[in-house]
Amino acid sequence: MNSFVDLKSMLSASRASCGTVYLVGAGPGDPDLLTLRAARLLAQADAVVYDHLVGADVLELVAPHAQRIYVGKERAKHTLQQEGINTLLVRLAREHACVVRLKGGDPFVFGRGGEELQVLAAEGVPFEVVPGVTAGCGVAAYAGIPLTHRDHAQSCLFVTGHLKDGSCDLDWPAIARRRQTVVIYMGLAGLATICERLIAHGLPPDWPAAVVEQGTLVDQRVVTATLATLAEAVDNAGLESPCLTIVGEVVRLRDQLAWFEPRAGVTATTETRPLPVAALS
Ligand code: SAH
Repeated sequence: MNSFVDLKSMLSASRASCGTVYLVGAGPGDPDLLTLRAARLLAQADAVVYDHLVGADVLELVAPHAQRIYVGKERAKHTLQQEGINTLLVRLAREHACVVRLKGGDPFVFGRGGEELQVLAAEGVPFEVVPGVTAGCGVAAYAGIPLTHRDHAQSCLFVTGHLKDGSCDLDWPAIARRRQTVVIYMGLAGLATICERLIAHGLPPDWPAAVVEQGTLVDQRVVTATLATLAEAVDNAGLESPCLTIVGEVVRLRDQLAWFEPRAGVTATTETRPLPVAALS
């Protein structure tokens, strides 16, 4: 394959001086969702620096000789602070030809990929970016929730629910709108507050919403409810991170479109009204 040959020559060409850092998206979990380019780079890497969202199945693709470095990054439990990761990448690039910085989902979506690249750029380290399937897309697909639909949502917002010091600094009027889907990353801890705010800013209490735990993986669990009942339903089901929240009328389509059969079965607290059949055409 031409591109494979190109990649090999590119890698050997960079061996002489400073290596290249590949900022690679690992996708949301299911290793089948890796890009071909990501899989090839993992097989050729000299060193792989990865965080907690990268699963064991994906790491199996890493070359046996490669150095594997876990840098954590769970909420409030950072194994290595961001500055330490940046320094590590610069050092590894000076020691190796092919360094892969592997991140869950897409490296440019809530992944601090841009920050890491800024440091590499300032240090003159060559880099490339390999996009991945972001959780918003992958998890919604495996939950049977289309993010847009001509009858229900003409736009889709990706926001972070990681609320600084418990305060809510999101643009609530823009988020609490009809005819759009809102995907909330890192929103589990603040879920009750988020739902309250959405209702306070105009969405009806019976507006459909879902939380997906371990999306795309065999342990995937999905709770569907309404803004008024979601936090309690998620609490009762005992969902834990990583969880993605999806808010919008499209959540109701899951009743008809759920296709993925996870090992753990489905926890569905479906309190949303079913859509009229006409709306599903
Ligand atoms: N760069 C990543 C996001 C990093 S932020 C991406 O593009 O997907 C981490 C958040 O992503 C988690 O807190 C969770 O909200 C979401 N997430 C990532 N993988 C997930 C999964 N398999 N299931 C549910 N949520 C997931």
